[in-house]
Amino acid sequence: MTKTSQQDPHQHQGDFFEDYHNTGDSALIINDGVEQQPIVNPYLKKVSRPGIRPVEYYVEGIKKGDTTILSQAITLVESTAPAHRKVADGIIAQCQLLAGGRKTMRIGITGVPGAGKSTFIEAFGSLITSKGHRLAVLAIDPSSERSKGSILGDKTRMETLCNDPNAFIRPSPSAGSLGGVARRTRETILLCEAAGYDVTFIETVGVGQSETAVHSMSDFFLLLMISGAGDELQGIKRGIMEMSDLIAINKADGTNIDKANLAKALYSNVLHLFPPTESGWVPKAVTASAVTKVGLPEILEIIEQYFALAWETGYYEKRRRQQASYWMRASIDEAIRRRFYESETVEKLLPEYEQAVLEGRLDSFAAAAELLEKYC
Ligand code: GDP
Repeated sequence: MTKTSQQDPHQHQGDFFEDYHNTGDSALIINDGVEQQPIVNPYLKKVSRPGIRPVEYYVEGIKKGDTTILSQAITLVESTAPAHRKVADGIIAQCQLLAGGRKTMRIGITGVPGAGKSTFIEAFGSLITSKGHRLAVLAIDPSSERSKGSILGDKTRMETLCNDPNAFIRPSPSAGSLGGVARRTRETILLCEAAGYDVTFIETVGVGQSETAVHSMSDFFLLLMISGAGDELQGIKRGIMEMSDLIAINKADGTNIDKANLAKALYSNVLHLFPPTESGWVPKAVTASAVTKVGLPEILEIIEQYFALAWETGYYEKRRRQQASYWMRASIDEAIRRRFYESETVEKLLPEYEQAVLEGRLDSFAAAAELLEKYC
């Protein structure tokens, strides 16, 4: 590329940073011997923004397991632009056909921040791929605070998995409501499965609503806990424990082993208090260490036992269908919501109604009813 001083550095920034060092006629010459400053974002060069291609292009790429095309397709799925959405819908429909009938394992993983989720995913994920599986790691995290870092930030910590050709890591879609983020993650699972990833981890942080969303798209739900003085039921709601198929007390290493065993006994007792599960599975509590890897093979064994049971009894299929019907309704809800807020009438009138409510001229219920009436 020929460089001139008028070049817009915002276009093709990767090339720009790479080339300007060699430029003969630019004002931006760096003298020999002066070390070049590091690029702020080392991944910048890898960013490519191709135009939209036909559905078949993505589907063919996904079928071949091309991770670049898979990532591009996921970007379309995550986009809210109508043109992207249209292609994304086509890709999803075809991927659903491709993946249909395959037995895949969707494993939800939750736990409070610091419970060791990323460390666990790195260690346990490597164990999974060493057994011949192909693993996709996704996340649901609608909070802007974490979505900036979250799995992307964790990439440095998930070094082994990032360099594992049998693993595919994708951070949480960052923008939008929990419903929107969850829907896009669910669609991403379909794409990954069509690309041949037979195991998917869906990670979420166990402090809000997002674990319910993760539960609604996973076959198996794993809750990671840590032991510690007095914090045994650390901010984890009863409902989350109740939906767990396995509670793993992580960090059961060093001087922490006894405490972890105590916590395991406590959680085993708590799990026994819950009513029997529809699957016939008896939820368990175990100890593990993501650092020493002790307990990880046992967790894999438990997960395999669960799937063997769910496949044998037909619960696996039944639950997937229940989830599909839940997602049908969720998609309708989201589409209606979007159409409402994007309609010209609402865009125009909503601020006026809001102002009227703020000034006390109209009560909120009457305002909502009138606006809905005008929209319909
Ligand atoms: P996350 O916030 O749940 O993703 O937790 P991280 O994976 O970032 O772990 C939080 C901290 O706990 C890090 O300093 C980890 O090194 C540490 N950690 C994670 N797993 C273990 C473990 O099994 N044993 C010990 N001793 N430390 C761990």
